Amino acid sequence: MSNKGRVFSGARPTGRQHLGNYLGAIKNYVELQTKYDCIYCIVDLHAMTTLEELEYIKTNTAEMALDWLAAGLEPEKSILFTQSHVPEVTELHTILSMFTPLGKLTDLPTFKDKVRLQPQNVNYGLVGYPVLMTADITLYKAEIVPVGVDQQSHIEFAREIVRTFNYRTKKQVLIEPQMKNTDFPKVIGTDGKKKMGKSENNHIELALSDEETTEVVKTMVTDPQRIRLKDPGNPEVCNVYTLHQYFSESEQVQEINHDCRKAKIGCVDCKLILSQKINENLGSFREKRNQLSKNPQHIWEILDDGAKRARKIAANTIAEVKSAAGLT
Ligand code: ADP
Repeated sequence: MSNKGRVFSGARPTGRQHLGNYLGAIKNYVELQTKYDCIYCIVDLHAMTTLEELEYIKTNTAEMALDWLAAGLEPEKSILFTQSHVPEVTELHTILSMFTPLGKLTDLPTFKDKVRLQPQNVNYGLVGYPVLMTADITLYKAEIVPVGVDQQSHIEFAREIVRTFNYRTKKQVLIEPQMKNTDFPKVIGTDGKKKMGKSENNHIELALSDEETTEVVKTMVTDPQRIRLKDPGNPEVCNVYTLHQYFSESEQVQEINHDCRKAKIGCVDCKLILSQKINENLGSFREKRNQLSKNPQHIWEILDDGAKRARKIAANTIAEVKSAAGLT
């Protein structure tokens, strides 16, 4: 890797990616590759905090990597790998945990949310999640971390752990990461209300066929005030219109805005145009994905190679951290 400045981002292996993942994260990952040295990690250890996912980790990892590659992540330029393939991260996690006040971890709103969501499975990993995330980032001395809004408190937390570690060891070994916000922090799902996500079942997968995309887009909830075709619509409260802003050309968006307000276009037609636009935008992604999926072994080879490159960086950092902490 060069000295362009290093970006790190990790995402749990959630399998096939949806438009929310694409606009909120992957698109940004692809663009960052031109300016920075990027390290993108499928954080399979983090996925273990919700036990139901165990049996899906492997297939979800492969499906997600397939989507990332098809969307334009380039293994020649960036490092793509799986978290557990670089065991140094667990070592750093343990060391950093000694510099982390437990009360702060249990006070984090994200931890409290998890406790509410899975009261039957409040495991240690859920509490330690932000420490492992700090290890993920600092192991590679990443300066920039592209994050969604939900992860911002964790980055702040990571910065605190780094400051404490550097202060207590009197060595500036670890780097305080900076957040880089995405342009699309919250893509709303087909229900028109909640953030698009698999668990809400309101998502549109990138890898759907054109016909499947059209079928899902047809189910999207539009402006609830617009009941009959002749009622004028309010594009600003319609998620179909919002998605048009991401996928349609600006003249088309203006025309839809105008025609919707004047009741010249109905929701059915508006959705049909949207699905065509999504399909056009994702055409080359889907073609590439089909090609890549013919050789699943190749995906694992790419992740394997990425892990080897990541481990070289990790080994250096761990040696420095241990030395700073008096563990030599
Ligand atoms: P994780 O648990 O790793 O955050 P997710 O699948 O929820 O896994 O998210 C992966 C990435 O995609 C994150 O950067 C997240 O912010 C982004 N993302 C997910 N859903 C949306 C959405 N509906 N709108 C914008 N960004 C999203």
